[in-house]
Amino acid sequence: IPRKRFGQNFLRDHCVIREIVAAIGPRLSDRLLEIGPGEGVLTRELLQSGAHLDVIELDRDLVAALQQRFAGAGRLRIHAGDALKFDLRTIASEARLRVVGNLPYNISTPLLFRLFEQLDVIEDMHFMLQKEVVDRLCAGAGDDDYGRLSVMAALYCQAQHLFNVGPECFYPRPRVVSAVVRLVPHTVLPDAGLVKQVSAVVAAAFGQRRKTLRNALKGLLDESALARAGIDPRARAEELSLADYVGLSRQLHP
Ligand code: SAM
Repeated sequence: IPRKRFGQNFLRDHCVIREIVAAIGPRLSDRLLEIGPGEGVLTRELLQSGAHLDVIELDRDLVAALQQRFAGAGRLRIHAGDALKFDLRTIASEARLRVVGNLPYNISTPLLFRLFEQLDVIEDMHFMLQKEVVDRLCAGAGDDDYGRLSVMAALYCQAQHLFNVGPECFYPRPRVVSAVVRLVPHTVLPDAGLVKQVSAVVAAAFGQRRKTLRNALKGLLDESALARAGIDPRARAEELSLADYVGLSRQLHP
């Protein structure tokens, strides 16, 4: 019986499963990490590539079922635990990890941020998420879905919407449409200081997105700081690009 509190919606449609694996294109030499393997439908396909695969699953009953189902699969390591607490460095080797998963939607945003902090050991990521989250990840300045998550994601990586997946492809059916996204980390990753600063500016700006930036950023940056960054004080949060936010954050006092 699927457990709601673990965000369990199992993929049932084999065309979609194959489509996801084709988008990932696993190679023999890859180091794959699957988050939330569930009953192992993706796991099985991924193993066929011959790549080395680590999986991390929170539900202990599913872990036991996976151990049974894949007993003897030499290139598979099953970890029982919480992906939110998992340190990727414990499994990373010379080869960076290719992270994949049909993620539990209830923890998708914190999980993404946890992974963003570990991008130095990640080659790329392919995830099934709510379409709404994928739209936010991929949105640029001026788009309807542009917000905090769009700016923070763009700071770390390039996001690409691959395809949508309807509720009928899962059991039980989720209430929302899903989509598969590809995230490729930038070659030069932002340092922790910059992340903290951009995060503070973006939180203030989008926290009051109907206000002009002059008002939304009051207390954080004054109007002369906005001018130095070349930002119109009457602009609104959704009009600024990542480069604008980086420029603004450089005006913050350390
Ligand atoms: N990959 C399977 C599939 O496509 O059928 C299952 C996907 S289901 C949406 C999400 C899976 O993540 C479930 O198996 C659930 O138990 C597991 N899960 C939930 N929270 C987790 C966490 N914090 N860490 C690791 N796995 C988690």
